[in-house]
Amino acid sequence: MALARRALEAARELRLPKDVHATLARVAKLVSGDAPRPDDALALLAPLRRPDFADGVLARGAGEIPGVGPKRATQLARRGLATVGDLVFHLPSRYDDRRERTAIGALEVGRRATFSGEVMHADFGPPRGRSGRVFQAVVGDGTGTVQLKWFRAGDALQQSICKGARLLATGDVRRYRFAKEVIHPEVDVLGPEEDLEARAVGVVPDYPTPEGIPPRTFRRWVTAAVETHADLVPEHLPEDVAARRDLPPLADALRRIHLPEPDADPQTLRDRDGPLYERLVLEELYLLEVGLLRRQTRRAEAQAPAIDPTREVIGRAARSLPFELTEAQRRSGREILRDMARPQPMSRLLQGDVGSGKTAVAWLAAVAAAASGLQTALMAPTELLAEQHHRSLARLDAAGTLRTALLTSSRTKSEAKATRDALAAGEVDLVVGTHALVQDEVRFAALGLAIVDEQHRFGVRDRATLAAKGRPGEEPHVLVMTATPIPRSLALTLYGDLELSVIDELPPGREPVRTILLRSGEGARATELVREALDRGEQVYVVYPLVEESEKVDLRDATESAARIQRAFADVRVELVHGRQSAAERGAAMARFEEGETRILVATTVIEVGVDVANATLMIVEHAERFGLAQLHQLRGRVGRGERRGTCVLVARAGGEDSEARLRAMLETTDGFRIADADLRIRGPGEFLGTRQSGRLPDLWIADLVRDARLVAVAREAARVTLTADPTLAREPALARAVRSRFGDRLSLAGVG
Ligand code: ADP
Ligand code: MG
Repeated sequence: MALARRALEAARELRLPKDVHATLARVAKLVSGDAPRPDDALALLAPLRRPDFADGVLARGAGEIPGVGPKRATQLARRGLATVGDLVFHLPSRYDDRRERTAIGALEVGRRATFSGEVMHADFGPPRGRSGRVFQAVVGDGTGTVQLKWFRAGDALQQSICKGARLLATGDVRRYRFAKEVIHPEVDVLGPEEDLEARAVGVVPDYPTPEGIPPRTFRRWVTAAVETHADLVPEHLPEDVAARRDLPPLADALRRIHLPEPDADPQTLRDRDGPLYERLVLEELYLLEVGLLRRQTRRAEAQAPAIDPTREVIGRAARSLPFELTEAQRRSGREILRDMARPQPMSRLLQGDVGSGKTAVAWLAAVAAAASGLQTALMAPTELLAEQHHRSLARLDAAGTLRTALLTSSRTKSEAKATRDALAAGEVDLVVGTHALVQDEVRFAALGLAIVDEQHRFGVRDRATLAAKGRPGEEPHVLVMTATPIPRSLALTLYGDLELSVIDELPPGREPVRTILLRSGEGARATELVREALDRGEQVYVVYPLVEESEKVDLRDATESAARIQRAFADVRVELVHGRQSAAERGAAMARFEEGETRILVATTVIEVGVDVANATLMIVEHAERFGLAQLHQLRGRVGRGERRGTCVLVARAGGEDSEARLRAMLETTDGFRIADADLRIRGPGEFLGTRQSGRLPDLWIADLVRDARLVAVAREAARVTLTADPTLAREPALARAVRSRFGDRLSLAGVG
């Protein structure tokens, strides 16, 4: 009983919601005094001891917080802040150090600053359209003046900010005509006798705040949420890991991130550096790694057909190819065959720069499957690419080793039906297609291998559906091909469980593409280069970022340009391909280009991946500043695939810092891995992988896989220790639940990559 009393005593110190404290107080009463009633106490405590109690409290609506009414709660919910827990985990976007004051005369435009001064003048400006009247105040401190502006000024603000009032203000300094101004500053009005220096203001967090909620109000809500709920946040990272690194408990870390201590270092907080943030990052990475390891174990338990062709079969197929395989292709091929020989599903990423010859390796894997009587499905992200793959596979397979078919949604009904029937009857060894392949009507006689090209464009769900089309009780082997050269460190983190094969060598005789950057007004140089290429009998791509979406005035419509180019080069055939054409139209246009009948192909980014015309040696990329780096790299890979050296002309028509950095990177290197590293630095990993759409990378809340690579290793090791001791997490239901709720959906869907 004494023990219980002491525990209750300690609980009083915890940051818990009022009603929870009230319950605890009643329990305390029941176990103290002359006639303790332990049974009643236990009954009262029962709901609090349920394993999901804390989760439940954190999931209460934000309306729990004093001052958050129903209207505000709805507004918060729209911004993803529906619950108290959401507020606790809503991290500051920056910190102001209010101890550091700037003289008004020294305020710099474009910087955020804290300053103090006296209101010299305050009133409403003239009415301005629909936004109403602006309340403005001129504040001075003897070194200069600055104007403060509010677009939605309440009565209270107006009354407190009157002539003669002394203020402490923080905000972003902007230029307004010849003066400086701060819009919606945060202000503290000082009392008449109050000593400015004595005012205790230290490092203050600033949050991304929903429209119309004053930052100070919002900060008060977050503070309240943290004050009453932080101690309910469950911790999963093993204690010894945190202790070894000298990290505070999670609740403390959250508290000190939201309410910095007086001696906090603002820069460390701003950089999201130091033990507080490290604690948060490690918690997240630990859950991620536990999830990934669990997925790996589960996959190892799945069954797949063991595919073990004779050397003879593979050797004959390889010799039938129109070229000699490179060493890197052979090595990747061996790795794939070794995986497929096992009765567990392969999941391997085949990574190779544009033009490195992934298709031939994939084809060999399909040959192996066919030798065991199993079918292969190759999925491409677009129709154009599926068609292209189908054509280039036909070229590789001149000997007709595999019975190959094409299935896209634009085939006629009867064609599609014929193909589906053939698939179901086992009369097709290799089917190439798009989304059409994952439809319900598509049945395979014996699907043994699923190959996904350019995984970052393909939904995880699609891959999972395809994986479910194997024979009963079996999953197909999965090979994901990508030209996006994911840096090895990142690949390891993303696909902790995915094997990696890299084709790090181009077929012999390829010279690196020459890259030229032109600005608007240098179009004559591009025309010259086109003329020279045509005179040498070569072909040209001209690529535009969009088609017919030209509300944006500065975007030249690709259609119009095709006509203009045709006029400029009247002696050759110019054609346009874009994503809105029917597959048949596009296919015909592509075929004419491949045969050399069309000499200039004007295209939107539909040619980005996979198009393969050896005689095309020049590529002009219009509005190069609008393309991502990975995209530019892919595009550049389209030229210089033959014997002759390719040239890529990037025409930049505008651009900011990021786009300049991308274009510079393109000029500096043709090495896909270095490009990827640069891209990663410029954009960050989420953007880089295009994962928001595909959901493949579980959205991380705070961890940055590149920046925190060091911690990834720590988290993985900790997860390994946990799972070695308790492989199914039977003893850690709370951890299992947390992993599921945090990453569950994505992890299971991402089962194939
Ligand atoms: P990617 O990896 O970009 O998919 P592809 O498989 O389309 O590359 O191959 C690019 C080009 O290189 C194709 O024309 C292909 O026929 C050719 N190719 C592939 N492997 C070799 C090789 N070992 N030697 C010569 N040419 C090759
Ligand atoms: Mg390819």
